[in-house]
Amino acid sequence: KVRVRYAPSPTGFLHIGNAQSALFNYLFAKHFGGTMVLRIEDTDLARNVEHGEESQMKYLHWLGIDWDEGPDKPNPKYAPYHQTERNKKGIYKKYIDQLISEGKAYYDYATEDELQQMREEQKKNGEAPHYDGRWYHASEEDIAAAKAKGIKPSVRFHLPKNHTYEWNDWALGKVEFNSDNLGGDFIIEKNNGMPTYNFAVVVDDHLMEITDTLRGADHIANTPKQMAIYEALGWEHPHFCHISLIFNPATGKKLSKRDKNTLQFISEYHREGYLKEAIFNFIAFLGWSPKGEQEIYSKEALIKAYDPHRMSKSPAFFDQKKLDWINAQYIKKTDVNDLVDRIMVLIHEQETEIAKKLNGLGYSDDQMKDVILRTVHVHQHDVNKLTEIMEHAYFYATVLDHDMDYSGLKDFDHDDTLKVLQGLKDAVKDQPDDTDPQTYLNLIKQVGKDVAVKGRNLYFPLNITFYGHSSAPQINEIMAIYHPATIVKLLDKAIA
Ligand code: GLU
Repeated sequence: KVRVRYAPSPTGFLHIGNAQSALFNYLFAKHFGGTMVLRIEDTDLARNVEHGEESQMKYLHWLGIDWDEGPDKPNPKYAPYHQTERNKKGIYKKYIDQLISEGKAYYDYATEDELQQMREEQKKNGEAPHYDGRWYHASEEDIAAAKAKGIKPSVRFHLPKNHTYEWNDWALGKVEFNSDNLGGDFIIEKNNGMPTYNFAVVVDDHLMEITDTLRGADHIANTPKQMAIYEALGWEHPHFCHISLIFNPATGKKLSKRDKNTLQFISEYHREGYLKEAIFNFIAFLGWSPKGEQEIYSKEALIKAYDPHRMSKSPAFFDQKKLDWINAQYIKKTDVNDLVDRIMVLIHEQETEIAKKLNGLGYSDDQMKDVILRTVHVHQHDVNKLTEIMEHAYFYATVLDHDMDYSGLKDFDHDDTLKVLQGLKDAVKDQPDDTDPQTYLNLIKQVGKDVAVKGRNLYFPLNITFYGHSSAPQINEIMAIYHPATIVKLLDKAIA
């Protein structure tokens, strides 16, 4: 029975790289009808950030990545799900003690200064930095002396010499490391009593009966160390999968939190008007691809199509244009009322300039929904992001405050234009507030007929009058966004 886990450290908010790991674990679990576990790896106390865990969980849920077991859904057989709590229960200590008693791990009394000096000497001698095993070979006297000084030891795992660790990776195929190239014996318990990542992850994956461990390729070099621990404890290791890292095409390097101009946190994608379904779809193609050319896949379709053999071993390049295109496809096919609700959430959250500006209009919720709905009708098919719809809505809501550029009207016959604008004004002024686009189109056509003006001579001056530009979306649809009183005022301004 498949069991996988997403194991974030609450050292920050949900980054696209985190979401990618979570998503592939989710697809793997759902595809094979298995269980997805959420485990919080919070042993690095100094690096944990406030609300990190809460925020990660919130945005995982938002993306539609749900887990079957975790801190909020404990299964008594495997709980608790926070490593700090597991540590308090002595879960790791038990195995640390076992390894020490079997001579597979040992206390290391080296001070930070001593380790620093060791590294500097290695550098001078042109050696790669490694722990030289000094406390493995320490005499009884050295140990007694260190204890007398009150030095708190850490615990190191003793790596066997010249031993090959080899695994068959879902993404990478066969991977092989020699134990002599792993930087020497490594710490499994820090001198504050906390297990290190490499140790805790092995104990937990084993006790939680994880069958497949999918994580970022930045962990490849940790895997042989973990295999050494599995072997020392006499346990079988799970099947590993190292997911391609996300690269920034602009720098040619791994996407870094310092890269400007690239959205990185899932909260930012939400804020900027990307739909969760689009982000899910986009991320699923970072490090994996289905057979064929199709690029738009719902979550359900991805679950069905998912195949771990198709995980990629090359870097996944972040393609902003592709993301925008996918988002546009999802905006096109989402129900208008659903889009309005999502935009209202963004407006209420007030996290972007445009959301703040819309709030600044002082509209009631109903008024705001009304203008957003009218704008969605016009722009659902020509935007990439929800925030663009918000920009358009703000323009329409404040159209009377804009200095419209009417200079383009000069390109058309003055008398004809005047007749059109005047005629339309008469036709519109008594229309009800909810006049629909079709009615406006009929009015325009009727006026055109009455004054014998048609084609671009009829429509372009209207585009300029109502949109400020000779090319505009369907002008009768834009008229339906405005109230008739606003249309009359715009006509007056253009006539003047
Ligand atoms: N806590 C680790 C991380 O956030 C998990 C790595 C793993 O999945 O083993 O990178």
